[in-house]
Amino acid sequence: MALVVQKYGGSSVATPDKIRDLARRIVARHESGDKVVVVVSAMGKSTDALVSQARELAQIPDPREMDMLVSAGERISIAMMSIAINGIRPGLAMSFTGSQIGLITDCNHGDARVLEVKGDRLREALDQGRIAVVAGFQGVSTTREITTLGRGGSDTTAVAVAAALAADVCEIYSDVDGVYTSDPRLAPSARLLDTVDYETMLEMSAAGAKVLKDDAVEYARRLGVRIAAGSSSSGLIGTIVSSENLNRDTLQAMVYNDRLRWVAFGAGVPLPPDCRLCQSVEGRSVVVVDEKHAGAMEGVPCVSLSLIGARVAAQRERVGEVLARLEEVGNRVLAISSTSSKYEIFLEDPLPPAQVSAIHDMLFV
Ligand code: ADP
Ligand code: ASP
Ligand code: MG
Repeated sequence: MALVVQKYGGSSVATPDKIRDLARRIVARHESGDKVVVVVSAMGKSTDALVSQARELAQIPDPREMDMLVSAGERISIAMMSIAINGIRPGLAMSFTGSQIGLITDCNHGDARVLEVKGDRLREALDQGRIAVVAGFQGVSTTREITTLGRGGSDTTAVAVAAALAADVCEIYSDVDGVYTSDPRLAPSARLLDTVDYETMLEMSAAGAKVLKDDAVEYARRLGVRIAAGSSSSGLIGTIVSSENLNRDTLQAMVYNDRLRWVAFGAGVPLPPDCRLCQSVEGRSVVVVDEKHAGAMEGVPCVSLSLIGARVAAQRERVGEVLARLEEVGNRVLAISSTSSKYEIFLEDPLPPAQVSAIHDMLFV
């Protein structure tokens, strides 16, 4: 008998039909003898819809009220999932908001950090033989305000809950089979990775791979939570993220990120918070930030291509091949940043999907 935390993202719970199908699978897992906690995201693209409706009312909506608004999406999902489960086995499921499970965060509205998960009510529900259904993405701050954990934050909830309950595994299901060498939507020949170590996964997520949120991977690494990433439609696990590393010396993944902005900064101007890169290029100071942190900064859109793996910068031939290909297609390199496990090339122009795919195939196929 295992204690399992399962997380289902927005696309997996987009319609009542999808919720009903998942409910059947969750009940079967419970009946197999496992204790199950389910974390769900808002249905489909409903968080995006709420954000755009708020922007119709104010250009920069009040952060406290935004959290009150967007946390409503997950509240709908927990009720829907519990109704579906209880439709199969009356009384089996019980829904909980972030505040009901004691998921305590700091006061940073819109991008709060988890400080603690008390989890008493979850333990109680599990002891009563129930399935606990938890709202992802939300918590309550130390000043008792509703907070959210940043876009994609249900992954973080799942890992934090798994750590608090000392669960055997945190299963994160989405519309892909697991973690691939690159986003399979951009690189159709991307290869599914059976295992990924925390460091590599963290570099991938931080570089912009949406499949797992960076905060979630960071918590998992720190708290020793084993993540299993799989497909919500088949229920099969494709990738295990853990401290084991079977591919230490190879280039493991490539991430293309087109959600960045850059700006040339002059002396004496304060740097924006959360900048990804600040580097001197051709006599000017170039600063790159994530689109979501750009705020009022008048930045120019840019993209990055990250090569990830241990000692990647030392793999000169591979890196050289990529730079040569970019030069061939006339895409100007804005800046380069390299660490021991990531080589990130910032480019002024977006790369068409066919080029992303061709560069991936050159490295991995
Ligand atoms: P959910 O809504 O379930 O949280 P996300 O949309 O956040 O799911 O994450 C799944 C998506 O991540 C996939 O549809 C895929 O396009 C994208 N993705 C980006 N990089 C990768 C990668 N290396 N491996 C797998 N999927 C990736
Ligand atoms: N619903 C939130 C979002 O769209 C959280 C999540 O999906 O994980 O970002
Ligand atoms: Mg996600």
